[in-house]
Amino acid sequence: KTPVPSDIEISQSCILKPIDQVAKEVGLLPDEVELYGQTKAKVHLSALKRLKNQPDGKYIVVTGITPTPLGEGKSTTTVGLVQALGAHLHQNVFACVRQPSQGPTFGIKGGAAGGGYCQVIPMEEFNLHLTGDIHAITAANNLVAAAIDTRIFHELTQTDQALYDRLVPSVNGVRKFSGIQIRRLQKLGINKTDPMALTKEEISLFVRLDIDPGTITWQRVLDTNDRFLRKITIGQSPTEKGFSRTAQFDITVSSEIMAVLALSDGLDDMKKRLGRMVVASSKRGEPVTTDDLGVTGALAVLMKDAIKPNLMQTLEGTPVFVHAGPFANIAHGNSSVLADKIALKLVGEEGFVVTEAGFGADIGMEKFFNIKCRYSGLRPHVVVLVATVRALKMHGGGPAVTAGVPLPKEYMEENLQLLAKGCSNLNKQIQNARMFGVPVVVAVNAFRTDTKAELALVVQLAKEAGAFDAVECTHWAEGGKGAVALAQAVQRASQAPSNFTFLYNVELPVIDKIRLIAQQIYGASDIELLPEAQKKVALYTKQGFGNLPICMAKTHLSLSHDPEKKGAPTGFILPIRDIRASVGAGFLYPLVGTMTTMPGLPTRPCFYDIDLDPVSGEVNGLF
Ligand code: ADP
Repeated sequence: KTPVPSDIEISQSCILKPIDQVAKEVGLLPDEVELYGQTKAKVHLSALKRLKNQPDGKYIVVTGITPTPLGEGKSTTTVGLVQALGAHLHQNVFACVRQPSQGPTFGIKGGAAGGGYCQVIPMEEFNLHLTGDIHAITAANNLVAAAIDTRIFHELTQTDQALYDRLVPSVNGVRKFSGIQIRRLQKLGINKTDPMALTKEEISLFVRLDIDPGTITWQRVLDTNDRFLRKITIGQSPTEKGFSRTAQFDITVSSEIMAVLALSDGLDDMKKRLGRMVVASSKRGEPVTTDDLGVTGALAVLMKDAIKPNLMQTLEGTPVFVHAGPFANIAHGNSSVLADKIALKLVGEEGFVVTEAGFGADIGMEKFFNIKCRYSGLRPHVVVLVATVRALKMHGGGPAVTAGVPLPKEYMEENLQLLAKGCSNLNKQIQNARMFGVPVVVAVNAFRTDTKAELALVVQLAKEAGAFDAVECTHWAEGGKGAVALAQAVQRASQAPSNFTFLYNVELPVIDKIRLIAQQIYGASDIELLPEAQKKVALYTKQGFGNLPICMAKTHLSLSHDPEKKGAPTGFILPIRDIRASVGAGFLYPLVGTMTTMPGLPTRPCFYDIDLDPVSGEVNGLF
């Protein structure tokens, strides 16, 4: 249709297959599928066990050039590519995408299910509660937060013996340690199982976590863009007897539990990661974990359904897993390992799984390789790098854009000079992907305003930069048909040799790992560790976390740390302000500048346009 209708109009006008039919088509058995109504289902992890001897399909990751406010279309291209491979080239396919945060859906971003004729549907289900995974994370995260402050409060107000009597109560004259308490005793080096046998000193060690409130790194979370929760004071009721402290709320998707969900490869692994999360240091400088708080089992219970990937479909009826959506800066920004693993088994050796990595190739793809693939053991066959003429022009020095104001003429008319200059960014991101030894296919996502000469120039320069292939595609306006050439290029590239290698060995010192990413991927001449970061390198190395992979928290709007620097800047020194640890998820995250972990709402948030038709029950205005 011309013009292309709004995303929600397209989504609602299409006929959905019942989701149990989709499940059957992909080879799932009825008892592996848990229906959530007609359009969504959870898939049991038992499917992975059943298919464990089945060879994996081809693993394709979609990434992009450095993002600009003009949008590049990675999600749209992920969906377009599977629609082309599945509905037009009749291959077995799966798309694996992240579940969006509700915060931005009501704020500035609107829906995130792709766009135009390439969407995951129903888009209102996808963008809102889905099957409640994010709510489960909110509940689990806040249980930990409550456990921390309450524990400090109880330790402050009670003697060792009173704490012991409550933590190990006498039931009918018998005291017994629970499993999690025995783990804590073992950690403390106390090899006793009889609660009556502990010495006074051992009781004191056992009952006091001695959390240093100034070291608490665990925050409360909410999946709403509520900037007034960025800094709060807790404990102001008289019942907390003056124990108050400054705290904050983050957006739920930035919770470490979201990153744990995304990286777990089974229930047992998730439980271990949930128990390893470090929430603070004790006054003696030792890490305090969720396991020390005694909360691991409860967290696993809260997350037991969230761990199952959610099955949905595209506009052209191909299957999609929507699962996990960690922040792409302070976390790794990739959908779940489990969804990818199940999908790779379901499509079989000849099939294709297309998974998406957030932000540009310097961030999402680098973390996809160095963190996600390292933990999952999966090896990618092809990188699809999405670029647009408009965004490349901005990298070439095109003017800034303002929301609600018509685009400057540079973006509406042919300008080959600006475009050629901006391809420096495309070139660098192609090199970044090639550094990992994987063939790169560039998808030039065409906009209505692009000219033939402009699209041809990007294709030519991408090939000259060493891309395996580069293809113009029109899937946003045409659906899968518009990405058939891209799909064929991906099929060819998946047959090409792929010599995947990690960028760094995790055993390297923390500073060396950060420097390698900064120099090789970003183009920095060096890094500079500010005092707080130096302190953390020493602390984490001493605490035994120095061999974790690195998850850089850097702006996505530039290859450098300065969002204003477009193209492919070089010669800069990357400042590392601080370093934090997500020990359960399994990475250290250096902070390059300040990162907002609680977005705000704009003057005219998206919720102005969102409405419910009281007669039909339809959701309107969600983009
Ligand atoms: P990303 O995943 O890179 O953030 P999306 O796929 O979510 O990008 O696309 C961003 C926005 O741009 C969406 O609203 C989408 O509908 C729109 N979009 C993507 N490709 C095109 C295109 N070729 N023409 C017009 N709009 C597009």
